[in-house]
Amino acid sequence: MIEIADPDAMRAWSRAERKSGRTIALVPTMGSLHEGHLRLIDRVRERVDRVVVSIFVNPLQFGSTEDLGAYPRDLDRDRAAALGRGTDGLFVPTAEVMYPAPAVVRVVPGSLADSLCGAQRPGHFEGVLTVVMKLFNIVEPDLASFGRKDAQQAVVIRRMVTDLNLPIEIDVAPTVREHDGLAMSSRNAYLSEAERRVAPALARGLDAAHEAFLGGERGVDRLVAAVRAPIDAEPALELEYLEVVDPVSLTPVETAEAASIMAVAARLGAARLIDNIILGEGTGADPRVGQ
Ligand code: AMP
Repeated sequence: MIEIADPDAMRAWSRAERKSGRTIALVPTMGSLHEGHLRLIDRVRERVDRVVVSIFVNPLQFGSTEDLGAYPRDLDRDRAAALGRGTDGLFVPTAEVMYPAPAVVRVVPGSLADSLCGAQRPGHFEGVLTVVMKLFNIVEPDLASFGRKDAQQAVVIRRMVTDLNLPIEIDVAPTVREHDGLAMSSRNAYLSEAERRVAPALARGLDAAHEAFLGGERGVDRLVAAVRAPIDAEPALELEYLEVVDPVSLTPVETAEAASIMAVAARLGAARLIDNIILGEGTGADPRVGQ
């Protein structure tokens, strides 16, 4: 596995690989790798000749009051984990090489950032799209894989690729969950033991809503109530949003349909948890790890 920090060197490596006829996939991450990230590597490993994993905690996507400074970082562990899953290239730029000058020109997500996390985190998806566009331009992959756990992010990135004619296939992978249903996240490291026991309430609520949906329920209010019940029972969980949205426009729907996205965010101590299901799919098919 080659490790590269310089964007020009990264592009030169990719171009040399491409010149030799090899295809390339990119898995963008902010590091602190867990099984959710590693399954993204597994998915693309099967499909291309060279897998590049980027690790970059992108300052542009953090609000001024958010956890940029506290975000967990452990490059030694990440290096071993990425290597263990067959990564060929690890791209680990610094903020200084990614943003040698202030990021004046950016990619804007438009109305897709008006709901869900976009409404709660002004500028977040502009930061995400801008860094993903930069990573695409540096690595020049044929394929890039993202997790459905960040459902709005996946929709916004797919739309960027369509609207801006980027020659890259986007793969979206199922959410990898802990044994009790909690969606894996680097930010779960912020949870105390007591909070960790509370956290699966989000997934339990989504499962309950999914059961109701499968039973024929299409009323958004009743589906929302099903998610809320286990969340409201935990005083430590502070609901931030809970919405059923259209999978293309991300605007709230009046009646739930198959493929509508039901998404939830809640604060729990120092952590902000997000999770979602695609109605009709639920969490049942999502891979789980642990005992
Ligand atoms: P992050 O490092 O949190 O920015 O995530 C990097 C990529 O991994 C994104 O495409 C995420 O959606 C994806 N990801 C994070 N957690 C999970 C998970 N539990 N299951 C599947 N993909 C995930």
